[in-house]
Amino acid sequence: MRIYFDHNATTPVDPAVAEAVARVMTDTFGNASSVHHFGQQAKAVLDEARSAVASLIAAEPSEIVFTSGGTESDNFALRGVAEALEPTGRRHLIASSIEHEAVLVTLRALARRGWRTTLLSVDQSGIVKPEALAEAMTDDTAIVSVMHANNEIGTIQPITELARLAHGRGALFHTDAVQSIGKIPVDVRALGVDLLSLSAHKFNGPKGVGALWIKRGARVTSVMTGGKHERSRRAGTENVAGIAGLGVAAQLAARKVTTESSRLGPLRNRLEENILAKVSGTAINGVREPRVPNTTNISFEAVEAESLLIALDLEGVAVSTGSACSSGTLEPSHVLRAMGLPSPRTQNSIRMSLGAGNTEDEVDYVVSKLPAIVEKLRSLTGTRARA
Ligand code: PLP
Repeated sequence: MRIYFDHNATTPVDPAVAEAVARVMTDTFGNASSVHHFGQQAKAVLDEARSAVASLIAAEPSEIVFTSGGTESDNFALRGVAEALEPTGRRHLIASSIEHEAVLVTLRALARRGWRTTLLSVDQSGIVKPEALAEAMTDDTAIVSVMHANNEIGTIQPITELARLAHGRGALFHTDAVQSIGKIPVDVRALGVDLLSLSAHKFNGPKGVGALWIKRGARVTSVMTGGKHERSRRAGTENVAGIAGLGVAAQLAARKVTTESSRLGPLRNRLEENILAKVSGTAINGVREPRVPNTTNISFEAVEAESLLIALDLEGVAVSTGSACSSGTLEPSHVLRAMGLPSPRTQNSIRMSLGAGNTEDEVDYVVSKLPAIVEKLRSLTGTRARA
């Protein structure tokens, strides 16, 4: 038995997506910039995918720029705005301390090149407080970047309010929506943001393809320079097959997001409540609401998260510690640390993220295995949970 509870790391590719990628790869090999029939066929594939992505987030197709995924979109937003607004003297950048590395490391790189940066702290709720942003804003802030949903704990940030604050001081607002797209409805106008990142492989699409939504009129310099692709906003021959897959994934997400989120919420709650009831010394990290419906992050007192991950894997259950990008290292999660959780708890926590195909039987299987696994790990180290 193999159970996949790691959908925030990546999701299985939907068969309709795989079929579209394969078909375009074999049948539509033209370069979308070519004027002849083959090129125009490829361009039609891009146009269709662009409309699908735009409609998923209630945007205009012309505002969508295809990228190689979430990391590139985040880099594009931050570096592109920093560069575009540099001549205006706006050289201050703000992000939250629980952002993905794609934002945090980019900010650090810009700080080394002279930009002033501020990271907003969060408390144990895992929610960014608008007051913290209001305090950090200055008249030279160029951009504020706060993620829509956190990848490790699933908390949903008050984007509309934060964006309003940023705009009040003349700054642009970017949100990394990589973990909310496909899990909850996302509407760029309702959020009131200027830029939004998304990545296909987090919602049953292929890896290595995504998009940056740039609100019409927002000042962003291209970071990938070369030809005039993507209306001169991102140079490079388009990944036509991957983009076709993104388009189909976007259509499926738009159709299923409401039903899937009302199916996954109760499933996640069943998992969470049973673990809290049946395994002593457990606690949820971050607030329960507002959260994306598929994610839970739970600490297990006196249990090394990596050992728990391996023990669960031996029982056929895939979960993760921290974010996928930092697993493989024993670094405690920067998100849990930023929330001010004490150091044993940052190392005792695992994330379980559900998705299409997960069932109540799978949840019950995991719940049935956990008490004995945890008991065994605690007995090996001679530690016990207090509660
Ligand atoms: N942003 C968030 C919140 C993520 O969770 C991830 C992936 O884990 C990324 C960005 C990076 O996206 P990609 O894997 O498409 O580069």
